[in-house]
Amino acid sequence: MLPLSFDVFRSAGFRFGLPMCLALGTLFLLEYAKFTLVNYQELLFTLPYVLFSLVILLSQPFNQGRTGLSALLMLIAYYIIQNHLQAPLSNNDTKLTFVLLCGLLPLNLLQIHILPDKRLNSRFGGFYILFILMLVGWSALVVNHFRDSDLTHVWDSYLYAIPNFSPMPIVLFLLSVAITLSSASTILKRNLGSDQTVFVSLLFSGMTFVLFQYNFISSTAFSIAALILLLNLITCSHELAFVDQLTGIPGRRALETELKHLGRTYTLAMLDVDHFKKFNDTYGHKTGDDVLKLVAQLMRNTKGGAQVFRYGGEEFTIMYKGKEASDCKAFLDELRQSIADYSFSLRDHNTRPDDNKKGAKMRKKSDKSTETNITVSIGVADSFPDHNPENVLKAADQALYKAKQKGRNRVMS
Ligand code: GH3
Ligand code: MG
Ligand code: MG
Repeated sequence: MLPLSFDVFRSAGFRFGLPMCLALGTLFLLEYAKFTLVNYQELLFTLPYVLFSLVILLSQPFNQGRTGLSALLMLIAYYIIQNHLQAPLSNNDTKLTFVLLCGLLPLNLLQIHILPDKRLNSRFGGFYILFILMLVGWSALVVNHFRDSDLTHVWDSYLYAIPNFSPMPIVLFLLSVAITLSSASTILKRNLGSDQTVFVSLLFSGMTFVLFQYNFISSTAFSIAALILLLNLITCSHELAFVDQLTGIPGRRALETELKHLGRTYTLAMLDVDHFKKFNDTYGHKTGDDVLKLVAQLMRNTKGGAQVFRYGGEEFTIMYKGKEASDCKAFLDELRQSIADYSFSLRDHNTRPDDNKKGAKMRKKSDKSTETNITVSIGVADSFPDHNPENVLKAADQALYKAKQKGRNRVMS
């Protein structure tokens, strides 16, 4: 059940909800467990360094450049907090460092969010790291330059803070909230793993700045952020390995894994879209892809505890654990019928502009999307008398061939 249970981790609700719950949990921890935290002070202090370094290292082989860059920014921010912000904020240079960090970190995270996702060890990644280092250097020069100046008028007129709420200037607080909210909305809208990375970094660093006067806030919040980033890396790499990119359902590798963990009784079915080549030739490959997505979507609703996989091309596999073929045929026939009954409204990708905005506008204007139906053929076989999954799959394939020969749009065993 591994591929299915990971579905939860990849849902937008989880990607948004988990950090929110943990942020609230952190507040509780700081309020009620501060005396316990004292005992783990040393560990807590080093934890973010270890965890963020781990995230940066792991982001490389998994191609998660955005996660790597966010972790790098968080690591630098944590270093600055620990080494330059431990003096009272009433000091001129401490306050200036704090204000620069509060402003620059969310802006840079926003930048990572907007820029394309590239590897850290690419030319782009190199330039970006150089840019961050220059920014840090520039900030250090600014702090040094204004060390002995009287900046009271700046604090009072532009960067006003409400001390008993937070030392963070109101303007920067609002900026941080706005960027965090917009990042949250992208998770809910397009739900990419890398969106969560930026959101988590914004949320937990923002929380640190707002509640800067709490003991242990930075090490606790940054540690938890790093842990979520690690979890995110794991789910993203799991997704890369096991989920079919086009349809979003588990792919061939997930199927191969599941086939190794079948009990004695199980049923496998092979589903193939009828005359799909003709469909592709008529409406274009992109429309063909849309149809595959829709078929996968309808397959998700297959009843009887079915697990569905994309086998490859326009072929799918349906797995029933603990059921014989005779128990599954009704469910499969229901699926076949639901696909046959479904009216696919087609967007003709050939005649409409590919350019997103223009295309969407035209689609709205000329709503003459063609409606069509497609059918599928299904072959079923169960684990009796042969318990070898490979042979059962072969038998299902033969049954599918029979269904095609008998005229398609049917289930055969
Ligand atoms: P039949 O009813 O006998 O299954 O006929 P068919 O045309 O569906 O069978 P065939 O296996 O000859 O054709 C499968 C076609 O599926 C060939 C290929 O163009 C198309 N196809 C395979 N993978 C994809 C894909 O990922 N996207 C799209 N759009 N088409 C695909
Ligand atoms: Mg085929
Ligand atoms: Mg086919």
